[in-house]
Amino acid sequence: AWAAATGPREVLLANPRSFCAGVERAIEVVDRALERFGAPVYVRRQIVHNTHVVHDLERRGAIFVGEVDEVPPGSVLVFAAHGVSPAVRAEAEARGLRVVDATCPLVTKVHTEVRRHSSREATVFLIGHADHEEVEGTVGEAPADVVVVEDVAAAARVVPRDAGNVAYAMQTTLAVDEATEIADVLRSRFPELQAPKSDDICYATTNRQRAVRDIAADCDLLLVVGSPNSSNSLRLVEVAQREGVPARLVDHAADLDLHTLVGMRRIGVTAGASAPPTLVDELVGCLGGLGPLTVDEPSADPEVLRFTLPKEVS
Ligand code: SF4
Repeated sequence: AWAAATGPREVLLANPRSFCAGVERAIEVVDRALERFGAPVYVRRQIVHNTHVVHDLERRGAIFVGEVDEVPPGSVLVFAAHGVSPAVRAEAEARGLRVVDATCPLVTKVHTEVRRHSSREATVFLIGHADHEEVEGTVGEAPADVVVVEDVAAAARVVPRDAGNVAYAMQTTLAVDEATEIADVLRSRFPELQAPKSDDICYATTNRQRAVRDIAADCDLLLVVGSPNSSNSLRLVEVAQREGVPARLVDHAADLDLHTLVGMRRIGVTAGASAPPTLVDELVGCLGGLGPLTVDEPSADPEVLRFTLPKEVS
């Protein structure tokens, strides 16, 4: 494979790619908590869904746990970017933990919508993946009122308490086209359906998917830097595949299977919102080791959104 995989190549970098504002903020929260309170700082679940980010913070003194009851009373606990249910917050408080909340403000926005609908007893269809941590947290805002809708088939058969009092919300990292299709089915069945005031699928997810569609026609293969549990990274793979381009998720340059490069001259490269830019550089460096490389990147408006830090660490 090594010989067959070598040769001159073009790399086309999707723009934008890699870290979003919510992920940068979440990592900075842990960094600053370590500085301010000293190690160990506990983090419930992966701070963001990326193996490298987690290992890096572990080396610096973060301890990742599954649940609040694993954290010694009195410790500092960071909630991950995907958000938590009110039950988890209550548990942390009951345990006397010093909580620093790294939930992305765009996830908090969806929680707020769900609470608003639930307060007027509406059924909320939450379009998303039931087993994703973000969805678990959002459902937890109003477990009796939220129904997770995973696909078009579920949208076609779901039965609310009162068809005249229904709303929908979305997980922030879905494929825009698929989620729209599911919302369309719900809207056609429930004319009274209330929509979010602004899109729930976040700007970073939307922009990264658009950037993949922009370069897909010029690529023989798309490599998506991201970890297997990263929802938005997986969606980037699917977006490319729907455009007819073979695509692979690569957690690390070392995982790159050289067989997949054979005969591929024009390689698109992107990264999920949780994948560090340095991993993209490493991947491109690795491709450069296989032969002469030209690297191109279409221009795009820079993403300027930044979130303020939680007061405990600002
Ligand atoms: Fe926030 Fe979107 Fe980034 Fe998730 S992907 S952390 S919702 S900005």
